[in-house]
Amino acid sequence: SSLTVAEADGDDRAVEAALRPKTLDELIGQQRVREQLSLVLEAARQRERAPDHVLLSGPPGLGKTTLAMIIAAEMSAPLRITSGPAITHAGDLAAILSGLNEGEVLFVDEIHRMSRPAEEMLYLAMEDFRVDVVIGKGPGATAIPIDLPPFTLVGATTRAGLLPGPLRDRFGFTGHLELYDPQDLELIVRRSAGLLDVTLRDDGAAEIAGRSRGTPRIANRLLRRVRDYAQVKADGTVTQEVAQKALDLYEVDPLGLDRLDLAVLDALCRRFGGGPVGISTLAVAVGEERETVEEVAEPFLVRSGFLARTPRGRVATPAAWEHLGLPVPASAEA
Ligand code: ADP
Repeated sequence: SSLTVAEADGDDRAVEAALRPKTLDELIGQQRVREQLSLVLEAARQRERAPDHVLLSGPPGLGKTTLAMIIAAEMSAPLRITSGPAITHAGDLAAILSGLNEGEVLFVDEIHRMSRPAEEMLYLAMEDFRVDVVIGKGPGATAIPIDLPPFTLVGATTRAGLLPGPLRDRFGFTGHLELYDPQDLELIVRRSAGLLDVTLRDDGAAEIAGRSRGTPRIANRLLRRVRDYAQVKADGTVTQEVAQKALDLYEVDPLGLDRLDLAVLDALCRRFGGGPVGISTLAVAVGEERETVEEVAEPFLVRSGFLARTPRGRVATPAAWEHLGLPVPASAEA
């Protein structure tokens, strides 16, 4: 994390880390969450207490990890990072919790994918700052309560509704991250270009932003691919024309739809005649989990006006048929 952007360049994950905003002020977009969180943190600082536990929800790549890092930085607190799937046994969580220092921020990514026993241990830790460590096995096993120092849990999930009620209720604040609008993405691309020393024209930034699926992580990734193209095939400057050619070469959809988005639309139109069809049926048709289709693909498809949710199921809009290059059936023209 101490790598400079120049040193990190070439390694995708290191570049991603280097491009992360470090303070709430540096964060672009997400106005509502930024204001809400800034208040939570300021109040905690005034009281000289660890802030309430924070739940962040939203599709991947919108800034949940970044916000967890910012929370720790703004509180001048250390940060520990883990994820729901990494905590397979309650004992894994007990080890993490009992190793926390006062005021530390614990970030649990994909917190909805934690095991049941770990989840129950977490309730107690969040509420009473206590963990029961079980020693031994079978009838001789004993639970030894261990007091924990006050800490702040930051959980991330694609949708708050995926968490069991008791866990959700123990977060003092939930921030809902929304897909970014093109103007904010444009600012993000320009900021990243500045850090990466890329010469970027405004129309080039707009082209990249428009194909980024409302997602800063994608915007940053596309910027680096376009930069490669500009360097090898042009004079290094990213113009709209350069961006278009580069992104066409990499088969990036002109409106930003990714493989799963397109698969969902394709199934919806070609296999189910444009719907209405249930989300579970649609998920089976594209070979994905329902959760992934619902939390990752659908928000962008709805936002872009390709898919509508109706009481009877998901329906393709005329724009969806057109985007796939198919004739719009009369049934879709409502
Ligand atoms: P998540 O944890 O939600 O999957 P991350 O926090 O890892 O997303 O963000 C992915 C990338 O997008 C990071 O490299 C970060 O630099 C960038 N990013 C996210 N949100 C913003 C923002 N609001 N402004 C600028 N860059 C952002």
